[in-house]
Amino acid sequence: MKKGLRDISNIDHNHFMRIAIKEAEMAGQCGDRPIAAVIVHNNHIIAKGSSKRRTGRSDVHHAENTAIMSCAPYLQEYGRECLIYSTVEPCIMCISTIAFSDIRNVIFAIEDKHMNTYAQIKAVPYLKERIFNYISGICVEETLQVFKRYTIESELNLVLNGC
Ligand SMILES: [Zn+2]
Repeated sequence: MKKGLRDISNIDHNHFMRIAIKEAEMAGQCGDRPIAAVIVHNNHIIAKGSSKRRTGRSDVHHAENTAIMSCAPYLQEYGRECLIYSTVEPCIMCISTIAFSDIRNVIFAIEDKHMNTYAQIKAVPYLKERIFNYISGICVEETLQVFKRYTIESELNLVLNGC
């Protein structure tokens, strides 16, 4: 049984988040939601993804899911040693996909107050046992700049204020 990565204290979270922010900006420029994710293994990026709700014509093409599907066979082998960086807190669908794809470490910038995913993690043993690290607040200001630039006000309020 593979143990999985638990100690992530020596990883440069800001570095990987800034790469995700660049992807989020590109998604925003394409008319998609300005949200992106990168997956990291052994300090290398193995996948990037961004919201493709408009260009992919699917409401489930979220950043995390897009990144995960682009490297799914790799994750079957190494998922437990990986981290996923997302500019916005994963939604309840994506946190499930993250757990099912064996990724144990989740780092994000902005909390999604509407989705309240952390409450789900705490409430569901399957998620609670699998998510080793769940860290928010990385590069918040830089992420907010991009997020606000391409997000309509009603959606912005949902994420930032929960209503
Ligand atoms: Zn999602």
